[in-house]
Amino acid sequence: MNQIDTEWMREQCESSGISVANDLSSSTITVINSCAVTSGAEKDVARWVRKAVNAEKDVIVAGCITKDYADRLKKEYGVSAFLFGGARKRIVTALNQIASGTDVVKWTETADLKFSGITGMNGRTRGFLKIEEGCSGSCSYCIIPVVRGRKIISRPIEMVIDDVENLLSGGYREIVLSGTDIGSYGKDLGTSLYELLRQLIAIDKEFRIRISSIGITALDSNLISLLGSVKICRHLHISLQSGSDKILSLMKRPYSAAMYKKKIENLINKIPDIAIGTDIIVGFPGEDDKEFLKTVSFTMDMPFVYLHPFSYSPRKGTNSYDQPFEKSAQKERVKLLKDIVNKKNIKYRKRFLGKQVRILAENEHSGRTSYYFPVFLQNRLKRGDFYDVTISNVTDHDTGAAIL
Ligand code: SF4
Repeated sequence: MNQIDTEWMREQCESSGISVANDLSSSTITVINSCAVTSGAEKDVARWVRKAVNAEKDVIVAGCITKDYADRLKKEYGVSAFLFGGARKRIVTALNQIASGTDVVKWTETADLKFSGITGMNGRTRGFLKIEEGCSGSCSYCIIPVVRGRKIISRPIEMVIDDVENLLSGGYREIVLSGTDIGSYGKDLGTSLYELLRQLIAIDKEFRIRISSIGITALDSNLISLLGSVKICRHLHISLQSGSDKILSLMKRPYSAAMYKKKIENLINKIPDIAIGTDIIVGFPGEDDKEFLKTVSFTMDMPFVYLHPFSYSPRKGTNSYDQPFEKSAQKERVKLLKDIVNKKNIKYRKRFLGKQVRILAENEHSGRTSYYFPVFLQNRLKRGDFYDVTISNVTDHDTGAAIL
């Protein structure tokens, strides 16, 4: 999401005649597009602010940052401007005001996705599109609804189609659809993600769509019926967070482990080779060894091919903020889950040995499959083009392929 917002701001600046520097030393004003998802991400923002201030740059902080944290940055480092949430659309005005010596700027605005269209992603082989913003969920650990908004705001279908056409004309062959909660896409417009995908796959060009991440509750039979299309990547990231019903309920996640399992089984029944990745939070308040072992056994049972484990960190402004948690156990729990899923990943990739798959070339000798894993080749490739390749070898970390 933040990459898309950054790219959108870059395009706004460039089309207003503001030149965008790619490194700190050659800039006059530094824009830091922040993330507040974890306390680690917030510390990274402070590190970048410190670096820019030490280099005597004016600083604008945009994006997902809480008001409390912004106050700290202002007090400690004298940050010149904050563009909270949808106020990033004022980036050009903020830059001009700071350049003309105006005092501190602080704007807060609801996102307006009519302004989010982009035509390219600087230096990337995939085009990213934000189709939705906001989440009406109430997960007890999550600060996102506070910083990104609770209201679902979707980009109208006809605008997304134009964005996709623009990206395709710009040479992109894979479009990543992204949002805070894209399963809720269209609820504000009387439409749905199903309808958007249905219209996108009808575009008569050679390309593929990747869905960045989706909540398990959005995975109904209608949507699954479209996911088998050759124009949709065989890959979904579906957050689990815990395999224990007690912890899921404390987290206020809107599903049980059994419901998650049932939906994944339905998906795998229809699309057996789909790659499923997930997030798990370890050390959430209330998670002791017994509850964690439920997550371990659930993870062993599920066809995950990769896993992003997060050590729980309390975020001020969330319901779980004040609750005690087992910090000392987190490192070991993360490692255990990673080891389980790494083995599943190798087994999954071995299923493709001798099979033909389509890759999008990312470099001269590597590309990415629809199933999200990268492959490496001796053949020389043209970045951004599709190739049909045969998987020739699988090691613990890499997958080899050749054009036959
Ligand atoms: S679904 Fe839950 S974790 Fe995801 S953004 Fe919404 S509140 Fe946060």
